[in-house]
Amino acid sequence: MSQFQAVRGMHDVLPEQLPQWQRLEAVFRAVSARFGYEEIRTPVVEYAQLYLRSVGPDSDIVRKEMYQFTDRGGEQLALRPELTAGVVRALVQHGLFHRRSLWRLWYYGPAFRYERPQKGRYRQFHQYGAECFGSPYPESDVEIILLAAAIVQELGITAYELQLNTLGTPEERRRYQQALREFFGHVRSALSAESQQRLERNPLRILDSKHPEDQPFIEQAPVLWDYLGTASREHFERVCDAVQAAGIPVRVNQRLVRGLDYYTHTVFEFVSPQLGAQNAFGGGGRYDMLVESFGGPSVPAVGFAFGVERLLLLMPPQPVEPVAQIYVAVAGEVERAQQVVMQLRAAGYRAVVDLQRRSLKAQLREAHRLGVPVVAIVGQAEWERGSVVLRLLSDGTQWECPLPELSAHVRHVLSR
Ligand code: AMP
Repeated sequence: MSQFQAVRGMHDVLPEQLPQWQRLEAVFRAVSARFGYEEIRTPVVEYAQLYLRSVGPDSDIVRKEMYQFTDRGGEQLALRPELTAGVVRALVQHGLFHRRSLWRLWYYGPAFRYERPQKGRYRQFHQYGAECFGSPYPESDVEIILLAAAIVQELGITAYELQLNTLGTPEERRRYQQALREFFGHVRSALSAESQQRLERNPLRILDSKHPEDQPFIEQAPVLWDYLGTASREHFERVCDAVQAAGIPVRVNQRLVRGLDYYTHTVFEFVSPQLGAQNAFGGGGRYDMLVESFGGPSVPAVGFAFGVERLLLLMPPQPVEPVAQIYVAVAGEVERAQQVVMQLRAAGYRAVVDLQRRSLKAQLREAHRLGVPVVAIVGQAEWERGSVVLRLLSDGTQWECPLPELSAHVRHVLSR
């Protein structure tokens, strides 16, 4: 039994899992670039106040899930529970909006939430996300959603649904919240304890409730649509129409409110039936007030984040490449094998060599285990003739290859 374990809810990514992660990361990079999005990296630790002001003091994230601590200098800090707030902070801090009025950005990295771990829910997880700053128009909502959908498609994920809703302007949302407070206030004692708590703080979140006793009331609750003005409705309809026209499976879900306080207008979530209880693998929306509330200019924005571990659960498995293309086995002097492996690496091949001075038989077994397709055997007699033996592990064919031609032979057999 190992003396130490990783912290509960935090996971190692082992070498055999890394190819899947790297494939995912390559897709993030390539698709973001195709849409003209630039990468930004921000610290994992921020002042806790940042999240109180953005995600909101009443959100579950801030109230129950944030890793918050006082550092040795007495500062109240937090491990980031999401990445948007840090990105907005960085843009405002560095005055980027004075340089350009439109920013297309993406990010990727770990986030932390003190949640009860289960499948698809961890305490350290990773998010990829993108944000478009500077346009209040529905075409920027659409661009962000199409970017997200392009990533999902490129990863080979097909069984999903995009749920869309609108929260309107802050004013419309306030009036709606008031209506909800009144409606649920009449049935208060019949609601779940959690919903009773939310009634004062954030009645919108009652619509999110999974408690069975809340469901009949939620079904009869007023709908936000009735509180929206024409401009908000038009904005939402344009987003829905354009996304649908792009062939993405859309469902309007009037109960989708998202857990973060900063959203206005469009909100959305990518949902998959394959994930079980934690069925959302990405989400986002418009947040037109956040930049200004951080002391920046009034800049509208829209963005989303994917949970990387959940994308990994949904991705079809990929064939794994062996760690090396060629294994150099030696019967005799190890320096010769070192020379051969260096020659192969210099020619650009992924090549490994025995480091444990094992028998030739054991080396060949190891090459098999690693799935390496070609072995170069450095033997006494061949070496004296200035050559090595090349063997294909698939069928055991082998031939003698002069050292100056080694790289050409390897290229030839690997390309077959
Ligand atoms: P949110 O902004 O909270 O909706 O988070 C965006 C995405 O991050 C979600 O759709 C999930 O895919 C992922 N996510 C959030 N919390 C966790 C967690 N504790 N563990 C794993 N993934 C998470």
